[in-house]
Amino acid sequence: MSEKKPSDLLKNVQRYLEQQQDLFGDTVYTDRKPATAPEIPDEAWTHAPSLEALNEQICGCLKCPLGHTRTNFVFGVGNARSKVMFIGEAPGADEDAQGEPFVGRAGQLLNKIIEAVDMKREEVYICNILKCRPPNNREPQPSEMELCTPYLVKQIELIGPSFIICLGRTAAQWILQTTESLGALRGRIHDYHGIRLIVTYHPAALLRNPNWKRPAWEDMKMFKRLYEEAIQNG
Ligand code: URA
Repeated sequence: MSEKKPSDLLKNVQRYLEQQQDLFGDTVYTDRKPATAPEIPDEAWTHAPSLEALNEQICGCLKCPLGHTRTNFVFGVGNARSKVMFIGEAPGADEDAQGEPFVGRAGQLLNKIIEAVDMKREEVYICNILKCRPPNNREPQPSEMELCTPYLVKQIELIGPSFIICLGRTAAQWILQTTESLGALRGRIHDYHGIRLIVTYHPAALLRNPNWKRPAWEDMKMFKRLYEEAIQNG
């Protein structure tokens, strides 16, 4: 039996990392289990009667270190009565600068995705799990998501959507509290406390890998069919 040299092992690791980089960019994805969903704290904002009131009450949040480095708190945008909510991961540099989610290149692609199912950006509601930008666009940490998720839960409660579309692995795994891969989560209808939840690629991932645009379109066609059925059935 031929013995494996350390240099072979290194070559294999390098090859594996290069494949991962081709697929996922510079983020290294691990099979980390997300922390358990937090309890809603007993704080005044939990009684906010509207999205505006909620934003006003939480936009000065300093519960995690991201509050100290943000330019703007990125609450969310769109129709407060929408039946459809798109949820991403966290604001990037453009979003931090403008205080609105998905306004950069990924946001422009998201607009096209929304238009492809005959909707307009203003018709749906768009937000993120984190309301503040992680430095250098690093992946959100579980402790940050844990502190920010109650705000998202309150947004969902106020909007009352029939559909949630999770953009990308981080948002989907966190909201569904699973470690299943994006591939395993796509193409299914999940139940989030009675709301139908669909998982698709993050637009930034589609910009990096245009081969995923076709399967992303399949996800959106599935959503459109379900949405139209829901409208017909009142
Ligand atoms: N990526 C996200 O997940 N959210 C944004 O708002 C922008 C980029």
